[in-house]
Amino acid sequence: MAKITLENIRHSYTADVEKSGDWALKEMDIVWSDGGAYALLGPSGCGKTTLLNIISGLLVPTEGRVLFNDRDVTDLASDQRHIAQVFQFPVVYDTMTVYENLAFPLRNRGMDPVKIKHRVHEIAQMLDLETVLDNRASGLTADGKQKISLGRGLVRDDVNVIMFDEPLTVIDPHLKWLLRSKLKRLHQQVGATMIYVTHDQTEALTFADKVVVMHEGVVVQVGTPVELFQKPNHTFVGHFIGSPGMNFLPCQLMDGAPTFDGNRIDVSAEFSVPDTAERIEIGIRPEFIKIADQGLSVDIVKVDDVGRYRIVESRYKQHTIKLIVPEGVSIPVDKAKIQFEPSNTHLYADHWILT
Ligand code: ATP
Repeated sequence: MAKITLENIRHSYTADVEKSGDWALKEMDIVWSDGGAYALLGPSGCGKTTLLNIISGLLVPTEGRVLFNDRDVTDLASDQRHIAQVFQFPVVYDTMTVYENLAFPLRNRGMDPVKIKHRVHEIAQMLDLETVLDNRASGLTADGKQKISLGRGLVRDDVNVIMFDEPLTVIDPHLKWLLRSKLKRLHQQVGATMIYVTHDQTEALTFADKVVVMHEGVVVQVGTPVELFQKPNHTFVGHFIGSPGMNFLPCQLMDGAPTFDGNRIDVSAEFSVPDTAERIEIGIRPEFIKIADQGLSVDIVKVDDVGRYRIVESRYKQHTIKLIVPEGVSIPVDKAKIQFEPSNTHLYADHWILT
């Protein structure tokens, strides 16, 4: 297993990048620690595959270096990097048995047959494949086949990193959560460095100890699920993580204090706004706004009961403010006063957090 360092990486698919400024990855300086469970999360086109291909050696970055345990592998081919990859669609040999599929990567590397048997059974047990080891892979369902793919990724013990590229896409929704929690347990058992690529926040947050959030070719935050929730580094993280996402309201400074349409808003910490800032915003998650006797006067527009709580959509002038109201708290019919919890109210300048 390895620590992976991406040092000053930039990548462009355009030859004349100086002219076009067309970077698929704009700037990247990140360390994936040995044995970590990471999710690489972001919407389509943000650069996830590009980053994955740079780690696996399918792409040589336009700028910067890739290090595995401090060894420079930037120009090393994929097959020399000892990486296991699990893709969206299962990669299995239909004519082989499940056992042979799992044994294949080990036989290929000339491992001793006794050791192969032991390792295949170990992995099959982790993935609940023991009872079908002698079956032909062709007879398995899509999720059974994807389990084989996962097994083929996990079976080798000489890999530096295992990368999963949207591995649950073809899995039935009701089985997804089962495999998701299984993968998390597998990480704990195997202890390998794992990178799980997805655009689905639930998958990312359940699998990973650390989530790397990408937006338009930039890593905007590396954090635990709790950090991403409580203190989004960038407005994109606020929008993208959470359901509903964070509220952002325009902010003006009056005598150095943040205000929203003339209403003073207390924020989590001291701050200083860069002279160059063009846009200042107040960010507050719906979970940290409460209905009170005093506060900002809003109109209640819509209430959605989602079981254990209600999602309330309120309006202040042209601004929509969403709040999450627990069961048992009454919600006025058309007008309410709301308060923001200062310790969870953050300030953003040009999308980046100040407090
Ligand atoms: P998806 O989830 O849709 O796969 P992604 O997050 O993996 O998206 P990338 O595929 O890495 O994103 O794409 C990042 C940017 O680079 C996009 O603007 C994309 O159009 C561009 N791009 C990707 N591959 C190529 C290529 N081979 N040639 C030119 N541009 C490319």
